[in-house]
Order: sequence, then C-alpha cells, then structure tokens
Amino acid sequence: MELLKQRIREEGIVLNNRVLKVDSFLNHQIDPQLFKAIGKEIADCYRDAGVQRIVTIEASGIALALMAALELDVPLVFARKKKSILMVDDVYHSVVYSYTKEENYDITISKKFLPAGEKVLIIDDFLASGEAAMGLAKLVKDAGDEVVGMAIAIEKSFQPGRERLENAGFRVESLVRIKEFKDNECIFLED
Ligand code: 5GP
Repeated sequence: MELLKQRIREEGIVLNNRVLKVDSFLNHQIDPQLFKAIGKEIADCYRDAGVQRIVTIEASGIALALMAALELDVPLVFARKKKSILMVDDVYHSVVYSYTKEENYDITISKKFLPAGEKVLIIDDFLASGEAAMGLAKLVKDAGDEVVGMAIAIEKSFQPGRERLENAGFRVESLVRIKEFKDNECIFLED
C-alpha cells in the first residue's frame, strides 16, 4: 500500500535497527483518513472470504480493525491484555510474549462476544514473531470458530512471523512488507 509506505518513509523512526516507531500516525496519534484507506484495503483483500467477525488486540489494533469492520459490515471484538474483574471466568484465554515489552502477558475475550461457528478475520498493526496473531488465533479456535485469514498493516518480513503463521495454515495479507532495517532506515520488500 503506497500511501502507508510513504508515511513510514516520511515519519517512521527506526530504533536500534529493530523497532519501527510510527507514533505520529498509527500507534499514538491516529490519522483517520489513512485509517479509512487501510480499512478499505483490508476489506478488499477479504471481501469474498465470508468474514462474519473481526478479532484484534488492544490498543493499536482497534482503530485499524474498526475501519475494516465498517467496510465489511461485521462486528469487531478486541482481546484485552488484562483480564477485567468483571469478566470472572467466562473468557477464552491465551498467553502472548510481547516483542516490544519483552514479557509475557495474558489476552482474553469474553465468551459471549465470540460465538461458535463463525468465520473470523484477525487484524493487527505489526507482524514480527507472530506471537500476538497466534495468540488471537488460539482464542478464535477455542471458541469453535474458523480463522479465514490475518490482515496486518506493517509486516517486518525479516522476522519469522509470516512463516510461522503460514506454516500453521493461515492466510496472511500485509499492506506493507519491510525487508530490513538498514542504518535505521526502512527497506521495503518490493523496492
Ligand atoms: P509479534 O507478536 O508478531 O512478535 O509482534 C506484534 C506485536 O508487537 C504488535 O501487536 C505490535 O504491537 C508489536 N510490535 C512488534 N514489532 C513492532 C515494531 O517494530 N513497532 C511497533 N510499534 N510495534 C511492534
């Protein structure tokens, strides 16, 4: 997606050739027009897949997923990173290792928002090791649903996430694929 690449080139900050900071339009301040375009792009990839629900993870996935959910006209549910005391035991649960925070955390979705027998699209902002996406897929499968695919805004293709997800049998669509970070600059896969 050229528009997203352009924003990364202009505003992205690469830290230690490891992490891309996109706080000015994606992870902190949000550009609604860009998100609208991202939502349409994701929806176009999966329009014929029979998606019935979108699942993402708080916080940064939510706004992206919302725009896609609007386009596909399906409900959206996001996994919480901490179990709410209101949720008691009625949740699907998984453990995810955080690439950026370097620690494990729990993710949960209330069972009533993940009814069985649906086709689910998983959305996230970044793909690195594939931990978050695999954790979300576990919740979806535990619910008795089918993962029809995963949509990622920014894939770091030099990390093992895509391979891991594809080996597990998932369709992965990324809007932008980063081949490498070189001297703290992004090199895109198609360039
Ligand atoms: P994974 O679970 O695939 O290892 O990493 C994906 C998750 O880690 C995303 O949900 C995202 O929040 C975070 N993440 C991984 N790499 C980056 C990065 O380079 N920049 C930012 N901003 N977040 C990242």
